Amino acid sequence: MNGNIEIKREILAKIKQYDRIIITRHFRPDGDAIGSTKGLWRMLKLTYPQKEVLVLNEDSSDYLAFLGGEDAPIEDEKYANALVIVCDTATENRISNKKFNLAKEIVKIDHHIAPPTSYGTLTWIEEERSSLCEMIVDFWLTFKDELILDKEGATYLFTGMVTDSGRFKYSAVDGETMRRAGALLDLGIDTEWIYANLNLEDFDIFKFEAYVYKKMKITKNGVAYIHVDRAMKRKFNLTNEQASAVVGYLDGIKGAICWLAFIDSGDGTIRVRVRSRFMTVNTLAEKYRGGGHDKACGATLYNKKEIKLMLADADEMVKKYKDNNEGWL
Ligand code: AMP
Repeated sequence: MNGNIEIKREILAKIKQYDRIIITRHFRPDGDAIGSTKGLWRMLKLTYPQKEVLVLNEDSSDYLAFLGGEDAPIEDEKYANALVIVCDTATENRISNKKFNLAKEIVKIDHHIAPPTSYGTLTWIEEERSSLCEMIVDFWLTFKDELILDKEGATYLFTGMVTDSGRFKYSAVDGETMRRAGALLDLGIDTEWIYANLNLEDFDIFKFEAYVYKKMKITKNGVAYIHVDRAMKRKFNLTNEQASAVVGYLDGIKGAICWLAFIDSGDGTIRVRVRSRFMTVNTLAEKYRGGGHDKACGATLYNKKEIKLMLADADEMVKKYKDNNEGWL
């Protein structure tokens, strides 16, 4: 138990107090954002059938469509007496549901590095957790006599746990992570079905992957990178979500302990997905209008010149790390 009992009690009391609860997450959702909101939704629906519990957002994910949809928008007036719970979102500007501020009260539950100023009447943050879903499972297990979870809810939460932890691979995974995942497995979830949905790709995507392996580069000190520009997106007929998946193709190169995927967003900006092993890189993302976790973060660039600048900074960081540390691969 890591001293979070008080805040969990306060959040449960807040949930009990409201008849309408609206759950939201960050835009451009990943498995953890969708898994945590839908997992919490399912838990609250099962436990409090008389309450109106909704998942309301303004965007979606094709990749995660197998988890099902979310709720249709409601009238603005209905927010006035509602509790909004924001999952997995460090800053206000990344909240997918732009109406969240109309709510009577806001609860923030997150596992990102907390920015200096934030939002919410109650905030529960555990930066060291590998996924927000893990925190939702912790919440369930803490109040297991009261809160109900079933196979459907467990499927949402397990999906978020496996995706945000890199399939239980990242260093933030600890014994608690596995015990909590075990509690979900005990509910009889179909892991073969979950992993098939997460891992299988359409045939054409493999051609794109092969092209990326041909085009990717490595800086002098070991930063692997690729720029998926508009032409490449057109050539392979890629959605933004498919283009963004390239970051995963760069993660297995010996000596390249940091890797960056630059993706043209289509609105003139360039989305950067930043990843590393052994060394932390969030300060690099923060320098370029971003943030996230120590070893998995993101940033936004405004032009190609900034790609060069960011690569030079990343290369320098890697050099410093390698000069001062041993044991990296
Ligand atoms: P991504 O590469 O988009 O999967 O992002 C990795 C992590 O960093 C996620 O937890 C994101 O929520 C977070 N993140 C990505 N981009 C930004 C950004 N521009 N500002 C703050 N956090 C970000």
